Amino acid sequence: MKIIMLGAPGAGKGTQAKKIAGRYRIPHISTGDIFRANIKGGTELGMKAKAYMDQGQLVPDDVTIGMLLDRISEPDCADGYVLDGFPRTIPQAESLKAALEKRGEKMDYAIDVDVPDEAIVTRMGGRRACVSCGATYHIVFNPTKQEGICDACGEKLVLRDDDKPETVQNRLGVYHDQTQPLIEYYRNEGILRTVDGTKDLNEVFEDIINVLGA
Ligand code: ADP
Ligand code: AMP
Repeated sequence: MKIIMLGAPGAGKGTQAKKIAGRYRIPHISTGDIFRANIKGGTELGMKAKAYMDQGQLVPDDVTIGMLLDRISEPDCADGYVLDGFPRTIPQAESLKAALEKRGEKMDYAIDVDVPDEAIVTRMGGRRACVSCGATYHIVFNPTKQEGICDACGEKLVLRDDDKPETVQNRLGVYHDQTQPLIEYYRNEGILRTVDGTKDLNEVFEDIINVLGA
């Protein structure tokens, strides 16, 4: 099964993508996580991406598309995957479609996790991310057992630089301009499914399972 997670930054794409990946035993591919791993590793790709990410802007398509297409060509993607944070522009969606068509494949579902902007600001201000394993939590909605420490690996949690309020506003603007048009795009492709992302995160997951089938 090949799934795209759509939705504003902070809508809960990553949270749900991890649950989907666990249940359906497919890899969770987050372009944001790949960029952050490259920044941490000090690679050339990471250095290119960092300047854009810090501003809340999108990393240019010529960097992002090749990186994602390489990733989905790896052997662990043979039975499907869940994409989180890609595509974020129409050219990214077109490139993905063209690359899959060449192999006689197509995406199965684009799940839009729908959350209004007002709720997004609270979500992102309270998000805490593990510097080591990439797990994400929320100080109120999904807290760790021990404050500031990752349940999964015991490392320290941080507030991402791009989750600070001034950058969140930029990211929401970028989302509405460049990414939201993908909702119409995938509606026209016939694979759009919308879930109410304001519900409790376990209820959102139930709704997604109803879409995907157990
Ligand atoms: P995205 O990947 O779309 O940017 P995340 O999955 O990281 O978003 O979620 C953003 C923040 O909101 C995180 O702190 C997460 O724990 C929290 N969150 C996710 N889903 C819900 C939900 N349904 N209700 C409340 N908080 C949520
Ligand atoms: P995320 O972890 O999905 O919230 O992404 C964090 C940041 O990484 C975004 O604000 C962008 O700067 C960058 N990024 C992630 N995915 C993409 C993408 N598909 N296209 C362009 N930039 C991206």
